[in-house]
Amino acid sequence: MKIRTKLILIALLPVILLLSLAVIFFLVTRQVEQANYKATQADDITKEFNDLSILTYEYHIYSRERVHRQWLQKYEELGGMLREKGREFDTPEEREAIARVLKSYRNIGYLFEQYGTHHRSETTAAAQLTEEQKNFRERITSRLLQELAEAGPASDSLHDLNHGRALSLSREIDRASMLFVGFIAVLIPLIVAFIVRSFSVPVKVLQEAVSRISGGALSYRINSRSQDEIGELSRTFDLMAERLLESDEALRSINRELEERVGARTAELTLSNAQLKNEVAERIAAEADLKKFSVELERSNRELEHFAYVASHDLQEPLRKIASFTELLAKKYSGQLDEKAGSYMHFIVDGAHRMQALINDLLSFSRATSRGKPFEPVDSGRLLQRVLADIELLLRERGAQVHAGELPVVYADAAQLGLVFQNLIGNAVKYCSAGVAPEITLSATHADREWTFSVRDNGIGINPQYFDRIFLLFQRLHTKEEYSGTGIGLAIVKKIIERHGGRIWVESAAGSGATFYFTIADQES
Ligand code: ADP
Repeated sequence: MKIRTKLILIALLPVILLLSLAVIFFLVTRQVEQANYKATQADDITKEFNDLSILTYEYHIYSRERVHRQWLQKYEELGGMLREKGREFDTPEEREAIARVLKSYRNIGYLFEQYGTHHRSETTAAAQLTEEQKNFRERITSRLLQELAEAGPASDSLHDLNHGRALSLSREIDRASMLFVGFIAVLIPLIVAFIVRSFSVPVKVLQEAVSRISGGALSYRINSRSQDEIGELSRTFDLMAERLLESDEALRSINRELEERVGARTAELTLSNAQLKNEVAERIAAEADLKKFSVELERSNRELEHFAYVASHDLQEPLRKIASFTELLAKKYSGQLDEKAGSYMHFIVDGAHRMQALINDLLSFSRATSRGKPFEPVDSGRLLQRVLADIELLLRERGAQVHAGELPVVYADAAQLGLVFQNLIGNAVKYCSAGVAPEITLSATHADREWTFSVRDNGIGINPQYFDRIFLLFQRLHTKEEYSGTGIGLAIVKKIIERHGGRIWVESAAGSGATFYFTIADQES
């Protein structure tokens, strides 16, 4: 049953009780009133009989006509009363009593009629009556009074019956009132107990369940069988606890799975960590080896450069001697030696000169790192003018034109930067088609904290497939018969530029000139 229905019933119960009590009281009170009314009616009848007794006496004593009329009138009234009110006495006892009254009434009428008739014929004074007449009257009167005396108790019994009933009904009402009070006194605690059982107890049970579940006892259930809202709430609560238990178990299993995964992953990580540590250790060892090797390499490079320098330097002297003594020999014995010996001498001198050039270039190459000077601000424009002045003869011989835009001040080794200009301009002049006047243009642009120099010529150009090769030591694209040279110039230039932290590259196509670019870090910015 729903709480609302229960509350309505609880509220209705006293109302229904009170209403039914009121109806009962009303009905019983009506019965009491009716009984009292009937008792009054019975009293009236008794009174009428009494009046008739008095009139009978009076008539017996005085024998007056007026009394006779009064008696008859009273008798008529009594008859009307009995007819009218007799119907209201409807219980068996009442009907029996009223029957007795009616019987007496009829007997009285009959007796009085005889008496009255007799009396009227004897209108003379009573004193004149015979003894026999007197006796007759005495007997009639006596029988009349006896009938009247019998009718009185009969109507009294009617009164008593109704009066008794009214009294007993009143007592019933009193008893019922007491009973009702007692019933209410019992009912109120019962209602209170019912309310407590219906609301307070289930709420307490629910509260207990909430505190148990929140305390972690997820398997706790209320198992309510109540059909009201609290019962429904309890069942929903049980359902929620069930779901909670399920999700808790699911969570636990996920947790276990997660823990297992984390364990496995941790083991994997520990393993790969150990491997990583090993790798790192190996790398550190390899780096140490590399460092050692690079130190070793640097040392052996320095030794090699020193050796090359010493060897080149020491070779110069005997070479110079070979060349100068061969030239001296050729001059002193000219005309005495045959043509073949002359050409041999020429080969020796030429070879010695080429060897000298090679050694000089090798010396320059090794000096590019070993004899480098600290960087300082160098006005590259002025430096270029000095270089041009140094090779003025060559330029003039070849009819070469050199154009230069405004060149910057850079931090550099001036001697080495001069060597770079000299080599690049020298090559631009050298690698020019016969009969073509070399045109050389120099410029510099600034970007990304560095200067980019360019040296453009109108020479024979370079096939792009050789762009990298030409910067390697001893790499030449032509024979010495075509263009003289040692194949060291651009290697020196590259080495110098790299020492200055820059890059060098070339852009060209065969037959359409070449442009060499190199960068010098802008240390001022
Ligand atoms: P080399 O002493 O032969 O000039 P380099 O190292 O200076 O040696 O040059 C290497 C080669 O690069 C040269 O043999 C030449 O073939 C080519 N080369 C250098 N400069 C130029 C240029 N401006 N135009 C065309 N070819 C060039």
